[in-house]
Amino acid sequence: MRVACRFSLSMLVFLTFSFASPNLSAQTIRLQVDLTDAPRNVYHAHLYFPAKPGAMTLVFPKWIPGNHRPSGPIAALTGIRMEAAGKTLAWQRDPVDMYAFHVDVPQGVDTLEVWLDAITTLDSAGGGGPAASSNILDLNWNAVLLYPQEARADNVEFSPSVKLPSGWKFGTALPVAKIAGDEIEFSPVSLTTLIDSPLIAGVHYRRIEVAAPNLLGARSSPQHFMDLVADNEGDLAMSPEDLAAFQKLVAETGALFGARHYRQYHFLLTLSDQVGGHGLEHHESNDSVAAERMLLDPDVHMLYADLVPHEFAHSWNGKYRRPAGLATPNYQEPMVGDLLWVYEGLTEYLGTVLAERSGLWTPEQYREELAYIAAALDHRTGRNWRSLEDTARSVQVLRTITQPE
Ligand SMILES: [Zn+2]
Repeated sequence: MRVACRFSLSMLVFLTFSFASPNLSAQTIRLQVDLTDAPRNVYHAHLYFPAKPGAMTLVFPKWIPGNHRPSGPIAALTGIRMEAAGKTLAWQRDPVDMYAFHVDVPQGVDTLEVWLDAITTLDSAGGGGPAASSNILDLNWNAVLLYPQEARADNVEFSPSVKLPSGWKFGTALPVAKIAGDEIEFSPVSLTTLIDSPLIAGVHYRRIEVAAPNLLGARSSPQHFMDLVADNEGDLAMSPEDLAAFQKLVAETGALFGARHYRQYHFLLTLSDQVGGHGLEHHESNDSVAAERMLLDPDVHMLYADLVPHEFAHSWNGKYRRPAGLATPNYQEPMVGDLLWVYEGLTEYLGTVLAERSGLWTPEQYREELAYIAAALDHRTGRNWRSLEDTARSVQVLRTITQPE
């Protein structure tokens, strides 16, 4: 995760509808997300829960992977309505746990319908900026769903679909089942995979296949795609040098890690000064936001060059392999961040090495980066002032403030 705020040119690094759904199991939760109000930063969701008569508790994801803290945007959740067999049901938020919602399912009913709205003005994947503008949206599914309390995320199946603003194009690692105009239905996936698979969309969209030279010999490599959305069409003009660098980035991760664990990989890259402010890693994608002119302005390019390599490296260090305290059974279980110095610390190092090896940074720019870090550490008392262990454990509170490192 990067809570990205790179605002100096001096190498300062700040850490900153209704689809027929065939072949669904009886326990699959259908989730339809209407994104046509995204330019107003409101997402509408409609869920169908298999239900039995009696007390039922649904929860809103609280601890968000990659954010390492209870950052689920609960204050932005509103418009909740519950219904069964055509009748509105009275629901109650738990008086202590703000993320839990109780309802009594009446007799003779096997489906609970829930409508909710997510206001996305302030939260984009924990980055602080809005998730959408009049040209761009970023959908993190954790913001638009509830799930049964105490369920294991791996064991809950969702059948998700979206309706996009008219004419917008999209990118995501989720497997597509059907496209009908602006409505897209995805194959059923576990809650784990759903929350790990954001979707970006926009008026100005470009998909590039990043075909890397295969450094793994004869073994086939999964496909890699770059899905770009931007404030303006001209922002998407990737130079041949940048394309070659991203291809080399893929190749260098093969050389570095020696194996790939994903079906295919999507670099979801938003180029905008209007939205976001984050880079968030996932197993089969990363959801990164860089400044609008990143591909056009060499100084801006330099500042964001290690963002994508960092988030890509997380697919191995953080996603495929995750510290025990951060591998929780669901999103209500608190995370223990003691090993974040591996999850984030090692990735921070690998991301900068990969930025240079791929050619996104020149060797001189990488040396300047190292010099900056050395100079910053030279002015600090380091572990004598605050231990590495305490810094890692307290990331869940430190990350609520955006400041250097
Ligand atoms: Zn990170």
